[in-house]
Amino acid sequence: MSGTRLVIENCAIVTVDGQGTEYSSGHILVEGNRISGVGEGCAPPGAVAEARRIDGSGCLATPGLVNCHHHLYQWATRGLAQQATLFEWLIELYPIWALVDEDIEHAAARAGLAALARSGCSTSMDHHYVFPRGVGDLLEVEIEAARDVGVRFHPTRGSMDLGESSGGLPPDSVVEDRDEILAASEAAIDRFHDPSFDSMLRIALAPCSPFSVTPELMSEAAELARRRNVRLHTHLAETKDEEEFCLEKFGVRPVDYLEDLGWLGKDVWLAHCVHLETDEVRRFGETKTGVAHCPSSNARLGAGIAPVAALVGAGAPVGLGVDGAASNEAGELEQEVREALLFARLANGPKALTARDALELGTIHGARCLGREEEIGSLEPGKLADIALWSIADLGHAGVEDPVAALVLGPPRPVNLLLVNGEPVVENEELRTADEREITRELARASEKLANKSEKLKG
Ligand SMILES: [Zn+2]
Repeated sequence: MSGTRLVIENCAIVTVDGQGTEYSSGHILVEGNRISGVGEGCAPPGAVAEARRIDGSGCLATPGLVNCHHHLYQWATRGLAQQATLFEWLIELYPIWALVDEDIEHAAARAGLAALARSGCSTSMDHHYVFPRGVGDLLEVEIEAARDVGVRFHPTRGSMDLGESSGGLPPDSVVEDRDEILAASEAAIDRFHDPSFDSMLRIALAPCSPFSVTPELMSEAAELARRRNVRLHTHLAETKDEEEFCLEKFGVRPVDYLEDLGWLGKDVWLAHCVHLETDEVRRFGETKTGVAHCPSSNARLGAGIAPVAALVGAGAPVGLGVDGAASNEAGELEQEVREALLFARLANGPKALTARDALELGTIHGARCLGREEEIGSLEPGKLADIALWSIADLGHAGVEDPVAALVLGPPRPVNLLLVNGEPVVENEELRTADEREITRELARASEKLANKSEKLKG
């Protein structure tokens, strides 16, 4: 008796496996929470007698997308500081973020995760680094939101301990004490981290950036992460202002600063990495340090274009990130796949990145950044059933012979079906796990509440 419980058939399939296997019309079998078969043509009849059959005609199946950089709380502060550089934008927003409470965090996290799921994202990280005193456990709140929406979640215990009075960028009111941060980080690992193959929740540690964190915290966070076998994440080389800050304060460039602190390695992935020199790209490849490329956010803040093709060529994993929605008012991941391709070509010409290369960034490369390449990121028997099914027979995509080109180069649209761990999270382009209209209302209410709190503080 076959244990197959779900079969998707009659769709084009791009597996993103190591051999680049694709099927023009194939099938995918799901048994439990794992993929049990992928192949050409219809599923073998005997194998699927009892299974739910999904007709994928006019669709392309890809691995679920993996989001490698985000700040979910920022969904409640969209549309502000619209013409600002990164540092100007941060200085305007830090005091507002200091007012985030559990209620606002929950509404923003659910909204951000819902938008990600509707854009085909089955796994997301979150980089949360603002922990105001006395407002409850914001990490726990966003973990609840991820359970509600049903996506695989890799939240990070972020932190800032370098306030303005010590030469940092953030006001002293939003930074924490180093010992408190390390204790809270270890507590988060104890409470939430699940290292199992099927894990829906893994914790990583993520001090915020060179201009908001002391070198001591960077070193001690790395020591703690390695002792507890969790991954490390931070922002790096996002802007020229950051480069100048590092040269002035530490006497070295951002990559040298991180390398001196033991922060290059295969258990580390770094957001942005826009301003890298050739030799630095080589060191990323040699050490297998991951990069979370965030093209929309980099464009919104005018930060520049990361050397994605060079990094991939050097052997570094390069995943994609939507980044916080305060610097990318659109938090849909499929859009970043398209923009990664377009930006790479703006920088290096039309051969810089193919449509399939861009899809690899959003899937298997993202899985490598999060240390999950054995479990997710490609459609292969034995891997977890995180599957995105995209309609490509509509006005925006019909008539393009290559289905991968239709998806990546064509206009973004919601995913038709998203399975996470074998369970439908999106069906017929609608969220199945939560009510999108209610999420939208809550988000609007939470954003208004935060704006009012901020006005009151100013007045
Ligand atoms: Zn960020």
